[in-house]
Amino acid sequence: MSLENLFIHLVFILFLFLPTTQAQHNKDKIFPSGWKSAAQEMVQTQIVERGVKDTRVLAVLTQTARHKFVPPEMVPYAYNDRPLPIGEDQTISQPYIVALMTELLGLSGTEKVLEIGTGSGYQAAVLSPLSAEVYTIEIVKTLALRAQTILKELGMKNVHVRWGDGYKGWPDEAPFDRIIVTAAPDEVPPALIDQLRAGGKLVIPVGKYWQELKVITKISTSEIDEQSIIPVRFVPMVHPRKTIVEEDLN
Ligand code: SAH
Repeated sequence: MSLENLFIHLVFILFLFLPTTQAQHNKDKIFPSGWKSAAQEMVQTQIVERGVKDTRVLAVLTQTARHKFVPPEMVPYAYNDRPLPIGEDQTISQPYIVALMTELLGLSGTEKVLEIGTGSGYQAAVLSPLSAEVYTIEIVKTLALRAQTILKELGMKNVHVRWGDGYKGWPDEAPFDRIIVTAAPDEVPPALIDQLRAGGKLVIPVGKYWQELKVITKISTSEIDEQSIIPVRFVPMVHPRKTIVEEDLN
């Protein structure tokens, strides 16, 4: 190779690398010590200090890239102590609420879990390593598709996304050991209690203006126990009168 050719090659290679190093540089500016240390700080200051103790939940929150689930303009705030807009007038819950609800599910790793309100997919990503299978339903198709794409990219094979109305649960896959609802209905949807296995738990925000986070335990097919945990603020659960078209996205 002539000296001139070598020079052209080198310049070409330099140009190939320039965009990636530039992108890397931008990312580094957003999280100066890397996203993992931002996640670690989030867990310590927002979650451990507020009393969440489940070590498996804390470990998963430290290892889950929350910034991958928010729109580009929200990335700098991904690990902040607040909910964030994710488009379509919906939000990703505050990290503490995700941690608290996950801890309340009391997962050992063997459970079949149903989530209503996939949203960004972050809660489903947190449930994935803590459960055997995760079934998640989202009523807004664009959100369901986006979440499905990210979860697939992250290799979360035990998460199954459906575009549909979660008010009816997921009858084909019932019963579930645990159900988590991340949008607030006025009252607990009866189908969700029906689709819970005896001994199972449902974690759900309930109410119109004032919502309470509740843990409902199905003691047996005829007996339930209900505990109120804390007041919360979630987006309302929509309950369309007309049946909408539904689709499994996997
Ligand atoms: N768990 C989500 C946050 C959910 S926000 C996350 O980790 O990002 C609540 C979501 O519930 C919204 O995306 C909203 O579109 C969805 N939702 C509202 N009513 C619903 C219903 N009936 N069935 C399924 N999803 C519903």
